[in-house]
Amino acid sequence: MKPTTLATLLTLALTAICATAADKEKDDHDHAAKAGPTGGRLITKVEPHAEFFVTRDNKIEIRFVDDDNKVLAPAGQTVSVIMGDRSKPTRLAFAQQGDKLVSDQTIPAGDLLPTVVQIKAGADGKTVTERFNLNLADCPTCDYREYACICDHEHVGEEKKK
Ligand SMILES: [Zn+2]
Repeated sequence: MKPTTLATLLTLALTAICATAADKEKDDHDHAAKAGPTGGRLITKVEPHAEFFVTRDNKIEIRFVDDDNKVLAPAGQTVSVIMGDRSKPTRLAFAQQGDKLVSDQTIPAGDLLPTVVQIKAGADGKTVTERFNLNLADCPTCDYREYACICDHEHVGEEKKK
């Protein structure tokens, strides 16, 4: 086979894969995208799912929710958040208050702060890590702030959701 033919075939194959992935992503947005019960960002790679919510006085609240978005009492999960400048990041620890975990301090100032959320399920559970840039602007086209946005508009400066 000539190299050019091989390249063409490869390109075709990759295009097909990309189209499938794009269709799937669109499908996820149409049917599965939802915010948490408080209007925060749902972290769905942990079971039960966790909602990451920034209050108006800039503390972080973490709630655990079932698949119907009902709040579950925390069950021994440990959460830590590291955010802000890589050179001097802010580390937040969490303590339980009622049905949620609340950060011990406020988030640092700034836009699009790199944020790393680590959730450990129970004493011998594994740690799940979620990374995103915290965008606190109100979304122009849905009811949520950008970090919890459930619509599909362009997010400037943010990684496209995967
Ligand atoms: Zn939106």
